[in-house]
Amino acid sequence: MIYLDNAATTRVYDTAADAAKRVMLDDYFNPNATYSSAVKTNDDVEQCRRDIAKSIGALPEELIFTSCATESNNAVFDCCIKNKKGNIVTTCGEHSSVYENAVRFKSRGIDVRFAPLKKSGSVDENSLLELIDENTALVSVIHVNNETGVVNPIARIAERIRKKSPRAIIHSDGVQALLKTEISLDALGVDLYSASAHKIGAPKGIGILYVKNGINISPILYGGGQERGLRSGTQNTPYIAAYAAAVERFIATADRSKMTGIRHDLSVYFESRGCFTVGTDENSGYIICVCIPGVKAEILQNAVHDKGVIIGKGAACSGTKRGNRVLSAMGLDPYQIECCIRLSFFTDTDSKDVLNAANIIIDTAQAIRSNNVG
Ligand code: PLP
Repeated sequence: MIYLDNAATTRVYDTAADAAKRVMLDDYFNPNATYSSAVKTNDDVEQCRRDIAKSIGALPEELIFTSCATESNNAVFDCCIKNKKGNIVTTCGEHSSVYENAVRFKSRGIDVRFAPLKKSGSVDENSLLELIDENTALVSVIHVNNETGVVNPIARIAERIRKKSPRAIIHSDGVQALLKTEISLDALGVDLYSASAHKIGAPKGIGILYVKNGINISPILYGGGQERGLRSGTQNTPYIAAYAAAVERFIATADRSKMTGIRHDLSVYFESRGCFTVGTDENSGYIICVCIPGVKAEILQNAVHDKGVIIGKGAACSGTKRGNRVLSAMGLDPYQIECCIRLSFFTDTDSKDVLNAANIIIDTAQAIRSNNVG
C-alpha cells in the first residue's frame, strides 16, 4: 500500500506506540494522586510537556493538553474571547473547526469578518489588514492550509496586526504546520496556537493549545483543576507520552528539503500530463492539491484505492459536505473542485513510491475518462 493521505492522519510511530503502551501497562497511575508512583507519573507528564515545549519554541507552562485541535480551536472562541467586546477577523481558508466557530459567533450577532484568499492560496494580507481595527478582539489565520499546503506568513501578518490593533488576540491554527515549517512559536509572535498529535505520528485524541504567557483565558473544562485549572479532567497520560515520543521521532527523521523535492517533482509530473497544481504560494512541502480535469476525485480515489494507493480529496473531516469552501475561495469553479485530489506526505514517504503512485493515478484517470467517453 502507498499511503498518501497523511494530512488526514498518520501512522503512529513505533516509539510513540511503545511509549503509550508503557504508560498504559506500567505507569498507569493517576498523575493527580499523591503516592509516590503517581507523583512519578505526574513528573513524566511534566517532562513530556517540557520536551514538547522546547521542541516548538514555547515555555512548558504555555502548553495545555487538549483532546484534539478541534477542541483547541473551539476553546479559542469560547474561552479566550467569549467575554470580550469587538469584532472577529478570520479568513476564508480556515479549517472547519475555526470557520464553523466564526459562523456560530456571527449568528449570535457578533461582527465577524472573513478575509479573502488569493488565487495562489494564501490569505490576501492587505484585505485582512483592512478588516482589522482598534475594536478587533481576535484574529485567527491558519498557518498551513490543510487542503493545499500553502503557508500563510504568520510572523509577518502578526507583526502587521500588532501595529494596527495592539489589543487584538492573535491565533493561528498550526495543525498542518507545527514541525513542518521552520519557524518556532516564539518567533511567530502569536498569542494562541493549536496543534494536533495525530498529524505527526502520535495517536488521535491528543492536541495542544498554546497560550502565550500573559494571555488570560477562562477554563475549557471545569472540575478538578488539572492543567493549571484551565482544562480539568485526568490527563491522557499514555497519549501525552506518545505525543512527546512522536515529536522527538519526527524531528529526528524529518527532512523538509526531501518533502519539497517530492512535491516539486510531482507537480512537474502532473502538469506534464495536463493537470494543474492548486495553490502556488509557498508550500510546507507536505501537501499537494492537484486538479485532474475531467475525472471526479471521488471516483478516482476509490479506483486507485483498489490498486493499493490511498489519496485524499479535500479535508477528511469535511468529506461528507458537498463542494469545498477553501478551493472555491481560491476561485476554482465547482467542476474543477470536483476533480481535485490531495496527496500528503510524512517523514517516511518514499520518493519512488510517490512517483509510482502518480503513474497509477494518471493511468487510472485515463481509463476513467475513456470509459466516460465510451
Ligand atoms: N485544523 C486543521 C488545519 C486540520 O487539518 C485539522 C484536521 O485535519 C484540524 C484542525 C482538526 O484536528 P483534530 O483532528 O485534532 O481535531
